[in-house]
Amino acid sequence: MALSTTGTTKVTAIAGDGIGPEVMEATKAVLAAAGARIEWEDMMAGAEAFKKGIQSGTPRETIDSIERTGLALKGPLETPVGYGERSANVSLRKHFELYANIRPVRELPGIRTPFSGRGIDMVVVRENVEDLYAGIEYMQTPGVAECLKLISDPGSERILRFAFALAQAEGRSKLACSTKANIMKLTEGMMKRVFERISGDYPSIAPSHLIVDNCAHQMVIAPEQFDVVVMTNMNGDILSDLAAGLVGGLGVAPSSNIGDKAAMFEAVHGSAPQIAGKNLANPTALLLSAVMLLRHIGDFAAAEKVEQSIYVTLTEGKNLTGDIAAKGTGVGTDKYVAQLIENLGRKSDKPSRDYAPISVPAWSPEQGVVAAKTKEVVGVDLFIDSALGPQAVGDKLQAAVQGSAFSLLTVANRGVQVWPPVGGHTFCVDHYRARLMLAAPIGATEGQAQIADLLGRIPEGMSWMHLEKLMRFDGKDAFSKLAGE
Ligand code: NAP
Repeated sequence: MALSTTGTTKVTAIAGDGIGPEVMEATKAVLAAAGARIEWEDMMAGAEAFKKGIQSGTPRETIDSIERTGLALKGPLETPVGYGERSANVSLRKHFELYANIRPVRELPGIRTPFSGRGIDMVVVRENVEDLYAGIEYMQTPGVAECLKLISDPGSERILRFAFALAQAEGRSKLACSTKANIMKLTEGMMKRVFERISGDYPSIAPSHLIVDNCAHQMVIAPEQFDVVVMTNMNGDILSDLAAGLVGGLGVAPSSNIGDKAAMFEAVHGSAPQIAGKNLANPTALLLSAVMLLRHIGDFAAAEKVEQSIYVTLTEGKNLTGDIAAKGTGVGTDKYVAQLIENLGRKSDKPSRDYAPISVPAWSPEQGVVAAKTKEVVGVDLFIDSALGPQAVGDKLQAAVQGSAFSLLTVANRGVQVWPPVGGHTFCVDHYRARLMLAAPIGATEGQAQIADLLGRIPEGMSWMHLEKLMRFDGKDAFSKLAGE
């Protein structure tokens, strides 16, 4: 974060698309009135950038500004339909390695929901850069698509340590890690194992683990039980929206994206093009995101002042925007902002939490490598495109690899063994996985000739499109097994 000579903090402001400019203007006005010492660097991203042909949706000057300030407050950015290629939001998160997505979910006074009065006050921490969102997808046959789910040990440790640090900074006592480790033992299981490995470092925080489908269920039947919940990227994406719905929905949901080099704060909602430019937009979500920004830069007094003004205004229900006002009483964005400014300095019955700065050490490049004393190859999984039936695939392949370094162990179709047949009722598609084992393990960098020989033996009626080595690290098999294998 960049402190200027005048004692103010420089923050890049990206107003964004649709209602973005209106909610950004509103937010800046309330922050200025609250005495927040922020110097804005106004930058552009989103639809305008895509229209100019900038494929990432983010101009170089905007990236440079965030490089300088280390901080951004961002309005919603339209995801292009029909032009450009990627989401500017995702580009920014990936460029700055904003690995932690933070979504506070706190019951707001005056916002009635079926869960009002339950005292919901949790934070959902979502890993923001790994998992299926790496965007590594392939059509393996004309009818079968693949997406790689990449979860790393350092990536898991980084987000988990962040979640523990956040729990400590907010004076919370519990951290639940929610995964699908019962099914995806290596990927989702990675986060669970790392959680178990490091949780002892945080004795003031009670750790627990729950399976993610149960987490969804628990969030709906007893959401008040949660304090901080941490998840891998896709689980966190889905459950953080669910959690936001418990306290009033996306229109009032703030978020932040934190990395070692930068932090970006944004409302969860989109650009709401239907109401853009009509003085109807509710700026509460961006304002609450700005409250998170103020706490991030250590301006706890201004943060509390703005948060309390929002609470007072929502409680009294006077001059609210149409989406949250009592029927027929809605006012324009400008009047709501004027009311918020008038209420600055007042205290609501709902106190703000006591926050302290979050302390998370930056990660060094060396921490990206997990060493093993031994790395061996014990076989390969060969992914095969074939219109043949499972018996023919297994029999032909078995005959073809006779005399090679490999022997055929099993053939599976979407994870289910179909050769040797086990009597199941598997509906087979044209995408098989043949597991071929070496007679004895070889070194990780050896075996190129044997693999080339194997690939040359693939019989007619089959083609291979993906080969995965079956590794053994420090004597432990590092791949999933078929049932009974
Ligand atoms: P959306 O923009 O969130 O809008 C859905 C509806 O929610 C709006 O039509 C409006 O309802 C209401 N709404 C949302 N925010 C509001 C606010 N601040 N004040 C009052 N009402 C609000 O979702 P979408 O229509 O799916 O997405 C529109 C565009 O935004 C897309 O291009 C999408 O890709 C993009 N988007 C960007 C982000 C981001 O930048 N982080 C996030 C999500 C979506 P009424 O029409 O009933 O008034």
